[in-house]
Amino acid sequence: AKSKGHNRIDIFDPMMLQQVRDRLHLEVELRQAIDQGDFALYYQPIINLRSQSPRGFEALVRWQKEDTLISPTVFIPVAEETGLIFELSRWVLRSACEQLQQWQKRYPKLRSLGFTVSINLSANQFSLPTLVAEIEQALEHHHLAGQFLKIEITESTLMHHLDSACEILTKLKAMGVRINIDDFGTGYSSLSYLRNLPLDGIKIDRSFISQMDRSQEDLELVRTILVLARNLHLDCIAEGIESTTQLQLLRSLRCPFGQGYLFAPPLTADKAEVYLQKHIL
Ligand code: C2E
Ligand code: CA
Ligand code: CA
Ligand code: CA
Repeated sequence: AKSKGHNRIDIFDPMMLQQVRDRLHLEVELRQAIDQGDFALYYQPIINLRSQSPRGFEALVRWQKEDTLISPTVFIPVAEETGLIFELSRWVLRSACEQLQQWQKRYPKLRSLGFTVSINLSANQFSLPTLVAEIEQALEHHHLAGQFLKIEITESTLMHHLDSACEILTKLKAMGVRINIDDFGTGYSSLSYLRNLPLDGIKIDRSFISQMDRSQEDLELVRTILVLARNLHLDCIAEGIESTTQLQLLRSLRCPFGQGYLFAPPLTADKAEVYLQKHIL
């Protein structure tokens, strides 16, 4: 028979205990941060590689914890596992729309240029029945046409939600919202979704771009992805361009768009506005 003493959980590894504590702590703090709104959206320009002019921003979230900025790679996974991602994403969506509305008011030219803001969607959001309605409401509330908003989703998100993805993307597309596949090349290799889903473009993952000036294989992969995108009439954005060598190679391969530290890092809203004034207005 079991004695009482055997029902307790033994944690033998003090490191593990520490990890559990850190994790719980992070979760509690993240909850608080959401309640207090301790987040900021940063904006990274997406550049037309031929004209060198920016054609949009990607909104990237940061956690402003006292004096430090915490990277989304640290807290997005925790937010996803705890369900806090829904509230956080709602905040991201509204803030991005509000910011774009303000910029469109101040700089009407942004509208005629078709300047867009892209937001990242997490896989969890695809199981949220209200996703499309939330996006629609955010657009309406800020008097924004759907064409100015872009959604970035990863291949694995698509593959995990193949049933709902098609319906959701079709509805978004009908609202004018454009859809890009993020981190292209790193997920599943099934390519049939590229022709079956209403997609607008793909973003070539940084891992291919970062090695393309050193690795013949990566260069060939990038070339192949670009040919594929062109044949399927998809937009193509190269992520993580850091050097002029990479830029020259991408230009020679006729890659239409790019993003990376070579042009600008993710910027605070204020700095992003200065960037707009300098580069397009
Ligand atoms: P991602 O969507 O692939 O975003 C690109 C990441 O690459 C960003 O990191 C960006 O700062 C970084 N990056 C841009 N240019 C360069 C470059 O030239 N070199 C290098 N080394 N890095 C570059 P960040 O902002 O830390 O975001 C990391 C990831 O967190 C994002 O990857 C995205 O998956 C996720 N994320 C960020 N914001 C959100 C959000 O609002 N919602 C969701 N669900 N995920 C988000
Ligand atoms: Ca992205
Ligand atoms: Ca990416
Ligand atoms: Ca990535």
